[in-house]
Amino acid sequence: MVAHSSDDVRGTLYIVATPIGNLDDFSKRAEQTLREVDYIGAEDTRHSRRLLNHFAIDAKLFSLHDHNEKDKAEYVASLLMDGKNVALVSDAGTPLISDPGYHLVAHLRAQGLTVTPVPGACALVAALCASGLPTDQFFFAGFVPAKSKARCDLYESWKSQAGTVVFYESTHRVYDSIADVAKVYGDSARLVLAREVTKTFETFLSGTAEEILAKFDADANQLKGEFVVMLSYVPEADDESELEAKRVLSILLEDLPVKQAAAMAAKLTGEKKNHLYKLALGMQDA
Ligand code: SAM
Repeated sequence: MVAHSSDDVRGTLYIVATPIGNLDDFSKRAEQTLREVDYIGAEDTRHSRRLLNHFAIDAKLFSLHDHNEKDKAEYVASLLMDGKNVALVSDAGTPLISDPGYHLVAHLRAQGLTVTPVPGACALVAALCASGLPTDQFFFAGFVPAKSKARCDLYESWKSQAGTVVFYESTHRVYDSIADVAKVYGDSARLVLAREVTKTFETFLSGTAEEILAKFDADANQLKGEFVVMLSYVPEADDESELEAKRVLSILLEDLPVKQAAAMAAKLTGEKKNHLYKLALGMQDA
C-alpha cells in the first residue's frame, strides 16, 4: 500500500485519518499505511499508542503538536529526503482539521515533497451529512472564541455568510456559546448540535438556540461530550433589507464618515437615514 518508487528515492508523508469514536471506522488502508510506514508523527504519542496497540501495529512514534510543529517540519523533510515514509495522525479524525499539521504540509509541499491523504472520519463532515441542514454550501469556522464579546461579533459576521456554518465547541463552553447564538440570532437561525458522533451516546439536537438551551436545562446529560454545532440562518423579510443596508454601509464606511455613509446608504437603499446612522454607529463600534 505504501508506495516505494524505484526512480524516486524520496519518501511520502501520509495524512492518515483515525476514528472519532467508533474504531470500526478505521479504514483498511489507514491500518495498512500505519503498519508499513517507517515513522508516525502523532499529536499525543501516548494516545495514538493505544490505537496502534489495538490494531497490533508496532510503529516508531514521534510527537508533532502545535508547539513543536515548525521545528519538526524540517525533521520530517529530512526523513522523506532519506527515502523514509512517514504518516501523520492526530488524536481523532482528520489531521489538520482543527488539529496540527498545516505548517508541516505547507513546508513539505514548498520543497516539492510528496504528501498524500488517507481519508476517513472527520467530525464536521460526519455531523453535517446527517444534520438535515443545507449541505450544498457550508463554511467551517473551527473553534469559536472563548470570550463572549468576540464570539458574538463573529456570530454577527456570519449573517452575510452563504450556506450552513459549522463549528466545533467544547463541553465546557457549549451552553454559553449557544446562549450567545440566541442573543445574536433570536429565532432566525436553525441549529443542529451533533454530540458524540459515532459513539454510544450519539445525539442530534435541533431547533432554535432557545429551544436547544431548554433541552440542556431539562437534561444536563445533553451537555456532556464532544460537539459539532451547525447553524443555518434564514433572514426574515425585514432582516433581508437590514442585511442589504449593512452590506452597503460596510462598503461606504471604508471611505466615508458615519454621517455621510448613512446619507448615501439611505439614497441607495431607500431605508431611513436615522436608522442607517444608528446602524453605522453600531457597526463602527463592533
Ligand atoms: N481533527 C478532528 C476532526 O477531523 O474532526 C477534530 C479535532 S478537534 C481538536 C476536536 C473537536 O472536534 C471536538 O472538540 C469536537 O468539537 C469535534 N469532535 C471530534 N470528535 C467528535 C465526535 N465524535 N462528535 C462530535 N464532535 C466531535
